[in-house]
Amino acid sequence: MKRVVIIGGGISGLSTALYLKEQAQASGHEVEYLLIERGDRLGGNIRTEKLDGFLIEGGPDCFLSEKPWAARLCRHIGLGDQIIPTTEENKGTFVLSNGKLHEMPEGLILMVPTKIMPLITTSLFSWLGKLRMGFEIFIPPKQGREDETLGSFVRRRLGREALDKIAEPLVAGVHAGDPETMSMRASFPKFMEMEEEHGSLIKGMLARMKKAKEVQRASSGPRPTMFMTLNGGLGTMIEAITSRLDASSIRLNTSISGIEEKDGKFLIYLTGNSPDSTPPSSPPYQGGDRGGVIEADSVILSTPAHVSASFFKDADSALAEKLLSIPYVSTATVTLAFKASDVKLPKSFGFVIPRVEERKIMAATFTSRKFAGRCSDEYVMVRCFVGGSKNESLVDLDDREMVEMVREELKDIIGINAEPVLSRVYRWRKAMPQYTIGHLERVRWIFDRIHKHPGLYLTGSAYHGIGISDSIREGEITAKKALDYLFSKDKQT
Ligand SMILES: Cc1cc2nc3c(=O)[nH]c(=O)nc-3n(C[C@H](O)[C@H](O)[C@H](O)COP(=O)(O)OP(=O)(O)OC[C@H]3O[C@@H](n4cnc5c(N)ncnc54)[C@H](O)[C@@H]3O)c2cc1C
Repeated sequence: MKRVVIIGGGISGLSTALYLKEQAQASGHEVEYLLIERGDRLGGNIRTEKLDGFLIEGGPDCFLSEKPWAARLCRHIGLGDQIIPTTEENKGTFVLSNGKLHEMPEGLILMVPTKIMPLITTSLFSWLGKLRMGFEIFIPPKQGREDETLGSFVRRRLGREALDKIAEPLVAGVHAGDPETMSMRASFPKFMEMEEEHGSLIKGMLARMKKAKEVQRASSGPRPTMFMTLNGGLGTMIEAITSRLDASSIRLNTSISGIEEKDGKFLIYLTGNSPDSTPPSSPPYQGGDRGGVIEADSVILSTPAHVSASFFKDADSALAEKLLSIPYVSTATVTLAFKASDVKLPKSFGFVIPRVEERKIMAATFTSRKFAGRCSDEYVMVRCFVGGSKNESLVDLDDREMVEMVREELKDIIGINAEPVLSRVYRWRKAMPQYTIGHLERVRWIFDRIHKHPGLYLTGSAYHGIGISDSIREGEITAKKALDYLFSKDKQT
């Protein structure tokens, strides 16, 4: 029987394993799969904790409805009725500008204004800034298809103020990235397509909204909001996928030190327990090995690019080097819960903070307002983002210092003085890939190079999309590629 080893138990590795199992069953192929995870839990960046009635997301808290793969997988694994939208009554986001919170004008979609009155009346932009944004419609599209940074693109189309106050904190903020290095073509291709197709972002966004309305009118069911999540948190998705995999095919607390190719097979060298892991908890996954070698017909790496690079440092140093050239940043999230009677939060999902404000946090989400069922009405939960390209070193603060720093920031910005009833810190070291200028060429080179290693595949958020939905889509594609390779090879021999 053919054996596929999947390394990394984040959403990419898990969805690859699930699709591999299902696609093999559907096509009548016998495949043994083994998923190897360094840590003592599955889910990678996705980590939902339930503590004293609080539902806390340590990493991602939602997926984008515009990208259908996460919702599709949730429906497939029986979680369709668990998908929930953001709350209607609290919608809206604030932006910190000159030390004050300003409501994001209605109709501003990502960074593109689609309504005139809210743009005219907002206190967020100066008159010059508003005129410059409205003028976007008359700015001719750039000729040629060469890449450009987010910073240059937004300054060119919408002006400096739109970049500083909206695009940087909101759009680059999703990647915890620096707009002056982020590649438009790799990170936000839709905006470039809008410019190319419609000559203007405003025109393109209006056309897109019209189309979306038509689709919505034709479909039944509630209108999805931009961000969606699961009733019981994103961890529910990890549990549901895991329950569909065979427990004996999952190996926790196991790290690998290298991969060798020999006679059309792969030898995977295990290093046994990783130093920061504890023995696996229930259900009965395997793990805690003291090293060893596993043979496989195909290997799928769903680890971060810099980790995958370490597996090739001897076997293919050029590939390792290129993988290492995909930069990553570290971030942390700090969740604080307060008694609702002790704090007064602006009615919204939270606020974002432009880099020019020089604050220590990047953004705050009022998690108990954004999605229903995160905690009882007696409390409110606020989650702050720390680190990223702006302030990466802050991730190294210890828990006490980090909570203190975040409390100081919340006191200054929204006047929260109260003592939190709960605080949780989650660090995500080198977990957020940055699609900088040249990313598309780097990835093309890597995927061409990987052909030199038949049966070896790379998947995950480092390459073709940084979000959960992208990772799931890539998992499905990669599973298919591995099966095609294994069974077309059979036909040739
Ligand atoms: C703070 C934060 C917030 C985010 N918010 C959102 C959001 O709201 N919505 C959204 O769509 N996306 C969000 N993202 C991005 C999202 O988390 C990723 O798209 C997704 O989780 C990537 O999954 P992955 O499996 O590719 O990688 P990971 O989740 O990083 O999984 C990789 C796995 O590989 C394991 N591993 C590493 N080294 C080894 C080794 N040597 N051997 C074996 N295993 C190893 C790791 O332990 C880990 O489990 C966020 C990311 C962060 C960090």
